[in-house]
Amino acid sequence: MDDSAPEARLATLLEGNRRFASGAAQGPNRDHVRRVRISEGQNPHALVLCCSDSREVPELIFDCGLGDLFVVRTAGHCVGATVLASVEFGVLVLGIKLVVVLGHTRCGAIAASLRARHEQEGPRGHLPALMKMIRPAVDDVSLAGPPHDALAEQVMLQHVRRSISVIEESADWEEHPLIVGGRYDLESGLVSLVDR
Ligand SMILES: [Zn+2]
Repeated sequence: MDDSAPEARLATLLEGNRRFASGAAQGPNRDHVRRVRISEGQNPHALVLCCSDSREVPELIFDCGLGDLFVVRTAGHCVGATVLASVEFGVLVLGIKLVVVLGHTRCGAIAASLRARHEQEGPRGHLPALMKMIRPAVDDVSLAGPPHDALAEQVMLQHVRRSISVIEESADWEEHPLIVGGRYDLESGLVSLVDR
């Protein structure tokens, strides 16, 4: 397979993740030689949209380094206008062919959105804007179903799918990148792909 094909790049990311999860991370591309080499321009091999959670750090969990990933992070990987613009920049300007939307277990933003359903008073400041973006995924998942942790997991997976749909529907590009969803497990360190 062509190394630059999006499928090959996804395989490379997942290989890096397996190293990380098993405690065999190599930490490539993090020295001064790499830093100087890429100072004139970047050519990242994937775009990762993920949560701002301090435990979900893309370069660490995919075992790569400087210049490897174009990362867009918001709490709960919510997709608003500036996120869409950032994704467009990665795809159109930098020529990235692989986009990974990465949710994670025990996401605080997802949990807050679930709680917000039952609270009279909403959160303060700008937080309602985030809740609003996650709400469609909450509404998709039947509340009559499983216990709370499993419910949050279902909402997170659905929110990943919806985030992908928002990107696909809003995008204005001729050549579509490969867009995949992922689930990062905080405890095992493993990333698994989310079915559509
Ligand atoms: Zn989160």
